[in-house]
Amino acid sequence: MNTDETRIIQRPPRRPLVLVVGCAAIVGLLGLIAHGEDGVSADAVARKYGFSDNVHVSVSNECLVVESDGIPNHQTAEYPNKDNPNRILKQSYRFVIPLKPHVSEKPVRTPMGPIGVALNGIPFYNQYTGEGKDAVRTEVFDSCCGHPDMRGRYHYHKYPVCVKSPFKDPKGEHSPVIGYAFDGFPICGPNGDDGKPPTNLDECNGHTDEERGYHYHVTAGYPYVIGAYHGEPEKSNLDHGGGRGGHPPGGRRRPPPPPGAPPPPDE
Ligand SMILES: [Zn+2]
Ligand SMILES: [Zn+2]
Repeated sequence: MNTDETRIIQRPPRRPLVLVVGCAAIVGLLGLIAHGEDGVSADAVARKYGFSDNVHVSVSNECLVVESDGIPNHQTAEYPNKDNPNRILKQSYRFVIPLKPHVSEKPVRTPMGPIGVALNGIPFYNQYTGEGKDAVRTEVFDSCCGHPDMRGRYHYHKYPVCVKSPFKDPKGEHSPVIGYAFDGFPICGPNGDDGKPPTNLDECNGHTDEERGYHYHVTAGYPYVIGAYHGEPEKSNLDHGGGRGGHPPGGRRRPPPPPGAPPPPDE
C-alpha cells in the first residue's frame, strides 16, 4: 500500500462524497467496525436512538448501521404451526439508515421484504401480500403481531402490540419512535400530540411537526405502518430482484371473515 492510499483511508472525504455515492458505499469503504459516534460507544449510540440491547448500532458518515439477528425480544407463537409453515431463523441483518433523509419528489412505493426496522431489530414489511392483497387482513399473525416468512424472517406488517411489548404509548402524549423506515424517517407509535391518532397523515402515513420534523405513524387501519416512502430509501437494505410478488408467503390465508366484517380488498 503506498502512502497516498494510506492517507485517503485515514482521512476519508466528507459530506460531498456521501451525497454522491450514498451511505452504504461509504460504510463499506471504511470497513465499519464496532464503534460509535466520534468515539462514543456503540451502546451509547444504540441508547440515543432508542434501540433495545439485543441490537448493535453504530454511526458512520451520517448513517446509522443497525445489526440484528432477527430473533424477537418478545414471545411469539410456536412455528411452524397450522397457519404458517415457516420457522423463525437467525438472520444477519445489517440495515443502513440515513440520518439526514432526502425527501423524494414523489412518494416512493415500498418493496416487498424489509422496508424499515423496529427498535428491537425486527423488520417491518409493507401492507401487501405477495399477491398484492392487504397482508393484515389476509395473513395470520401471532399475538405480538408478527410472523416468519419462508426465509425465516420474523417481521411485522402492523404495530407490534403484545404482552410485554417494548413499545408503550404514554396517555395524552405523542407516541415515541418505535423504529426507522429505510428512507431515514422515524416511525412513531399511533398517537399524535394530544395522545390521539393524528388526522392529518399523508399518503405515506406521515406528517410534520416542529419538534420532530417529518415522521410516520403506525395506524390501526390500512396502510398500518407506512403507505410509501416520503424520502429516498437506502437501497442496500432492500431485497433484490424484488418488485411485486417478491414477498415470500408469511402464512396461509385466513378463513373467511365472520359475518358482518368488511370483505378483504380485491375480493
Ligand atoms: Zn406525529
Ligand atoms: Zn408477512
